[in-house]
Amino acid sequence: MTTPSTRYAQFKLVLLGESAVGKSSLVHRFVKDSFDEYRESTIGAAFLTQTVNVDENTTVKFEIWDTAGQERYKSLAPMYYRNANCAVVVYDITQAASLDRAKAWVKELQRQANESIVIALAGNKLDLESDREVDTSVAQSYADEAGLLFYETSAKSGENVLELFTGIAKKLPIDA
Ligand code: GDP
Repeated sequence: MTTPSTRYAQFKLVLLGESAVGKSSLVHRFVKDSFDEYRESTIGAAFLTQTVNVDENTTVKFEIWDTAGQERYKSLAPMYYRNANCAVVVYDITQAASLDRAKAWVKELQRQANESIVIALAGNKLDLESDREVDTSVAQSYADEAGLLFYETSAKSGENVLELFTGIAKKLPIDA
């Protein structure tokens, strides 16, 4: 009997996006599998780790930097994305303006971050479908054009959250 070879790799991931789109809630859902309506907002940045199994032989560990979205912390962002292997840029599907902000972050990452950075766009608050302002097809077309992975997620229900992080993990360079 042969033992399957196991592969393990560690990557730095940064979350960016306007304040209150649900960055911390997405991380919380991913890391703790829970949602807390009343958690305090992030000051500066928070650091957490979580692993995902890409397939039965491959495990990816994410070192997650959850940045604060407030304007006053904006100048700190380069410190977090500079050495990042991957980024999740989050908007809120019920706030059209938050997609504009997300696009600006993508532009900044594509200009200033590591050339090989894997970027995913996440349209969060998918559970608030009745308040939707951003059509899925509009965001999908933009993501395709810009070369981004794209997921609509709900940190509240958990829908697509693991899929988002697993999707990123699958795009990362893991040595055999
Ligand atoms: P951040 O500032 O981007 O980190 O956003 P937070 O994670 O602090 O979330 C901002 C607000 O949106 C909080 O009141 C959260 O409870 C709420 N929120 C976050 N994600 C979701 C979601 O998927 N659905 C709903 N309905 N509310 C969410």
